[in-house]
Amino acid sequence: MTPKPLLRLLMLGAALTAAGCATPVAPSGPQSASCESGAVRLTQDFSTAPDYACERTDDAAFKLTVLPEDPDINPSPWYAFDLHTERASEAQVALDYPDYRHRYQPRIEIEDGHWVALPDDAVMVSEDRQNAVLSLEIGPGATRIGAQEVISLADRAMWRTAFADRTGMTRRVIGESRQGRPIEALSRPAASPGAPLIIILGGQHPPEVPGVLGLRAFLDALFGAEANTSVLDGYQWLILPDLNPDGVEHGHWRHNAGGLDLNRDWGPFTQPETAAAFAAIQAQIANGHAPYLLLDFHATRRDVLYTPPDAAELTPFAFSEDWIALIEEEWSGTEPAFDRGPSHNVGMPTSKTWFADTYAAPGVTVEYGDDTDRDRITALSQTAARALARYLDEAQTVSAE
Ligand SMILES: [Zn+2]
Repeated sequence: MTPKPLLRLLMLGAALTAAGCATPVAPSGPQSASCESGAVRLTQDFSTAPDYACERTDDAAFKLTVLPEDPDINPSPWYAFDLHTERASEAQVALDYPDYRHRYQPRIEIEDGHWVALPDDAVMVSEDRQNAVLSLEIGPGATRIGAQEVISLADRAMWRTAFADRTGMTRRVIGESRQGRPIEALSRPAASPGAPLIIILGGQHPPEVPGVLGLRAFLDALFGAEANTSVLDGYQWLILPDLNPDGVEHGHWRHNAGGLDLNRDWGPFTQPETAAAFAAIQAQIANGHAPYLLLDFHATRRDVLYTPPDAAELTPFAFSEDWIALIEEEWSGTEPAFDRGPSHNVGMPTSKTWFADTYAAPGVTVEYGDDTDRDRITALSQTAARALARYLDEAQTVSAE
């Protein structure tokens, strides 16, 4: 793969402030088609790109109307687009949020797979946060911008394949999404037939890319070169990293193609994605593996673990407290690694609540911050994986005594 030319980012902050560009630019000209032709163009035609109405407001200026796939939705206003130019050019893109507020600091792909956040002074956000204007200097070719790193369905499939290859895991299709895209599971068998079942989920909410990065680093640390295989062998592992391929493909904020938040469908199982996950879990239980632990990877505004309430009568008892204590013991930072949110979403049909209510076993939602430094995400995940391996090792020792 040929790296794209490194794109210089122009710091136009001062000029923008003087020009008062925090006010939305008045729309002019025809809709989207006009954005896709001309010397400087804007397109939204790749995996994860939504299809927002686009207006050209000048030769190299555009306005995107950022609206969710369904009304009244979790405020995760995703966007992803390409800018194209023949010659080096300045370009402006206004993100207009009629009903929501700007949330994600734009990121730019400076080389294949390498992303950086735009500097603050290249992004002018209006006081009510319903408009943000990005100012860029783009080089010849295509420049990709996203609300987070763009990780396409093809990238995700390649990662699963490579991960399965390097860890010896089994990869198989357990079902299809609403629009017929495959849902894949990775699994690692236990050494003994009745071993407890550990389930790891990801990808339910499309814009939550830090959760994807966190899950990958966690799995690499747990099952990669440093893996403690004798500990891993004591458990049956079922991993479902990408549960919402339709939502990812279309650049949804939250839902699958059936218009539902999949993490409010654990229990009802009305959607093919959650129904496939449930069937895969049931198949493991039918084979004698009792549910032991569920971890579900997401992103929100901070690094936080949403755990069952402290007093919950679950087995293993007090898993969250013990795991978190080990994480903090392993963590090299001066501040705690994760915040903790016990009793979050009690009574809602989320994966963790369903797991605890159905199997009396702990389910934990692992959340990374939208803006958490990517090296910190890796460090948090590696620490959490080491702590989990220690926990499981000690649990096996205790049960063997
Ligand atoms: Zn989420």
